[in-house]
Amino acid sequence: MSEQYHDESFRDKVGFINQDGKRQYIYPKKPVGFFTKYRTYLSWFLLAILFAGPFIRINGQPFLMLDVLGRKFVILGQVFWPQDFYLLVILLITLVIFVVVFTAAFGRIFCGWVCPQTIFLEMVFRKIEYFLDGDRGQQMRIANMPWNAEKIRRRLVKWAIFFVLSFAIANTFLMYLVGSDRVLLMVQEGPVAHIGNFTALMVFTGAFFFVFAWFREQACIVVCPYGRLQGVLLDRNSIVIAYDKIRGEIRSRFRKGEDREAVGKGDCIDCGQCVAVCPTGIDIRNGTQLECVNCTACIDACDDIMDKINKPRGLIRYASENQIEHKQPFEYTTRLKLYTVVLSVLLITMGGLLFSRSTMQANILRLPGSNYKLGEDNYVTNIYQYKILNKSTQSQEFSIQIVGIENARVQAAGGNELRADIQEFAEGVLIVSIPRGELKSSKEKIVLEIVDTDGRVLGKTKVGFPGPLAK
Ligand code: SF4
Ligand code: SF4
Repeated sequence: MSEQYHDESFRDKVGFINQDGKRQYIYPKKPVGFFTKYRTYLSWFLLAILFAGPFIRINGQPFLMLDVLGRKFVILGQVFWPQDFYLLVILLITLVIFVVVFTAAFGRIFCGWVCPQTIFLEMVFRKIEYFLDGDRGQQMRIANMPWNAEKIRRRLVKWAIFFVLSFAIANTFLMYLVGSDRVLLMVQEGPVAHIGNFTALMVFTGAFFFVFAWFREQACIVVCPYGRLQGVLLDRNSIVIAYDKIRGEIRSRFRKGEDREAVGKGDCIDCGQCVAVCPTGIDIRNGTQLECVNCTACIDACDDIMDKINKPRGLIRYASENQIEHKQPFEYTTRLKLYTVVLSVLLITMGGLLFSRSTMQANILRLPGSNYKLGEDNYVTNIYQYKILNKSTQSQEFSIQIVGIENARVQAAGGNELRADIQEFAEGVLIVSIPRGELKSSKEKIVLEIVDTDGRVLGKTKVGFPGPLAK
């Protein structure tokens, strides 16, 4: 075994901090290759959705809006009010379990392919940097030069573009919070008329500029809780970006015409290209590390080297530790099976709750202190208090009706044509009369429906209907 194989000194340092404990800026080499190409295509698609999202409407509602201050959440055109908060909690738990299952099986694929931080940094800001300043060597040269006219001009141009982009991203995020209509109104009426929103916009802009111009990979390594969880989520069967140490070691420099196998050398020619392209500054040959965001740049860099030295691609590839060490195929472990069962239960529960969610939330209770009354017409009457919340996105005109009991009468005090505005309550007194012969017990349960003027049922509730003992 080579010395490097046992070298654990990488654990004593992080890529973005130098020996003096100061920030060490990372200048990754521009990645090129199969995975980078498809990640680029996917990032274009995701960016298009992200920027178009606030303007997409489903049934007149935004595609996604998380109006925290207005206490209104819209997900895929479905409106959730504070009364639906339990649904959001279940949705959040389902999402966390999904992430856990997915990570246990496929590692940090999300980070490399879908995470907005990676997409913005690697596919937008870093590409602009490559365009303006050139590749790794050129960027380092500019960074090391004194603050002369060229450096000042280059930095001002780059930061101005970064600021404009950060402002555009902040606008988009604000639209997801307060809706595109409000942001467009703000643009029309000017920042002074919307000083609160404008301040939030500038804070967001500053935060994005800080993250993408300077903080960069530290967001993934130091701040992101998902990254910190890798240690407990991954096991030896998880698919990660891995260096095939069995095939690669003993690593040593390339010598033209040498039969490496015959002299006991592995396929790694220690060229350092996988390290040079890494945006978090790590050496994947040291094994899976917390800093690895699965960006695939090292796969592409190494595949390129393998092509050049006529070796098969995949010295660095998507694989689990067991696949590499024991040549085992992917295993659907007991842990994964358990996660999947929990996820399935949550998904079914979520689907059921969403499907049965009513647009009118009815709260109907018997009037305190009241008793049933048996009339001369042989009808039994009970009096209720109703409080009905309109959770839909428009005003509703409706009536309350009884289900499945012939000749029953429902009378709201003040008239049966009721109305509730958006997020408003309709409340009052309800008199329900049922022929005595229709009652099967003295503690009958009846179902009351909220029905709109077109006959659609908007909600329902079950209430007790006491009466005399059945004859
Ligand atoms: S790019 Fe491949 S060959 Fe070069 S050092 Fe990395 S693993 Fe070894
Ligand atoms: S080790 Fe490879 S996949 Fe991981 S962050 Fe570095 S370049 Fe990307």
